[in-house]
Amino acid sequence: MTAAFTFEPSDRVRRIKPSPSVAAAARARELKAAGRDIVDLTVGEPDFDTPQHVKDAAMAAIAAGATKYTAVNGTPALRGAISGWYRRLVGRACDDARITIGGGAKQVIFLALMASIGTGDEVIVPAPFWVSYPDMVLANEGTPILLPCGQETGFKIDPAALDAAITPKTRWLVFNAPGNPAGAGYSRSELAAILEVVARHPRVMVLADEIYDSIWFGEAPFVSIASVDPSMADRILLVNGVSKSHAMTGWRMGWGIGAPDLVKAINTLQSQMSSCPSSISQAATVAALNGPDDFVRTCTAEYRRRRDIVVDRLRAIPGLECVSPSGAFYLFPRCAGLIGKRTPAGVVIADDLDFVRYLLDAEGVTTVHGGAYGLSPHSLVVCNQPGRARRSVHTHCARMPSVDLTGGRRWMSCGCSNSYSRRLPSAASSNTPKTGAQYGSMRRQRWRGCRAMKRRP
Ligand code: PLP
Repeated sequence: MTAAFTFEPSDRVRRIKPSPSVAAAARARELKAAGRDIVDLTVGEPDFDTPQHVKDAAMAAIAAGATKYTAVNGTPALRGAISGWYRRLVGRACDDARITIGGGAKQVIFLALMASIGTGDEVIVPAPFWVSYPDMVLANEGTPILLPCGQETGFKIDPAALDAAITPKTRWLVFNAPGNPAGAGYSRSELAAILEVVARHPRVMVLADEIYDSIWFGEAPFVSIASVDPSMADRILLVNGVSKSHAMTGWRMGWGIGAPDLVKAINTLQSQMSSCPSSISQAATVAALNGPDDFVRTCTAEYRRRRDIVVDRLRAIPGLECVSPSGAFYLFPRCAGLIGKRTPAGVVIADDLDFVRYLLDAEGVTTVHGGAYGLSPHSLVVCNQPGRARRSVHTHCARMPSVDLTGGRRWMSCGCSNSYSRRLPSAASSNTPKTGAQYGSMRRQRWRGCRAMKRRP
């Protein structure tokens, strides 16, 4: 008889946890499978299909036999397409020695950390953050240093606070704009102020994750941090990919552009890890980067439309505040006004985790609590879903207003919430934040409208 075997994960794995958003999505799937009607607002990927010309390029690559290993830093065609993309964004050329490619932006970020940090190195992670950053730092034996960037500063980095957070051990500033989950974007002068701080600390580099740059709603065009100060080119690793811009999350293709020595180190790791990303995805990415940009523009217009609908609806809910994001497809409403309230079942909402639990249990809406993103009390709402998702946003919004914890009573429990959402008074649907008194008056108007509707035959 063989002895029982117990697998013990490495310390590296013990230090980290699975992504909370992936866990929330899995929970939503479980509940759906068990027959519950669930609105899942946790999944950070476009609901659009990959454009046809990109799929055609992949099929042509297969037909032409481009199905073998490529160079670690990709085919010449891909490097040419990335270099053209960089020139259009940043206004400068970049040679092959500055380009690394990976199986998604996520892999590039992981390898960049693996190539550059060790025990004792600190990585500044502004909060709220994309859930993977701190765990990637921990997996690579570094220490994540959280830099709070709350709603008061528009979820943006304050240069003075950044300066104060830098120590002799700091290796990287993680810089994600437009950011997941708050969608904050920066002007050229704000970016220059951040780079001025970084320039004063010669050991510090900027890990600039601009994966959402194409989903940009600002009046002025998006400004890449890599375009601001050419003298900082070697201090910035600019990371991007096609997952979000071209609805290609499953193709796993991303890239980084940075100092040749750093890129060489990343490529050495890549050569031992996967040799190269898929040759077929590389061909598809060439088509995405060199092809027409009408797909990207159409998707962005639709994301903006959805953002405006959901921001409007969330702002109409007593106890929630919602900043309208400059980019990406996430909202990060603050739920401070609901903390300490009681649910209709009498349970006290002690924190944002209780709030998202309540949303799931009572309303069948899955979101992720702000604590998972390093900033409480908030909750994440992904508004990328409509289409198939247009329905879900409306369903979600129709359900959210029934979350009234202000008096422990569900004032929308009459079941007419859908019609109700359509009947919001115009003041309630403007984008301006509301005072407590305005919320109270909106709520009373809705209650009156609700009773009026019930009286109708
Ligand atoms: N960076 C951020 C901020 C993200 O939100 C995500 C995915 O959600 C990624 C990177 C991953 O991108 P990719 O699919 O290219 O690995």
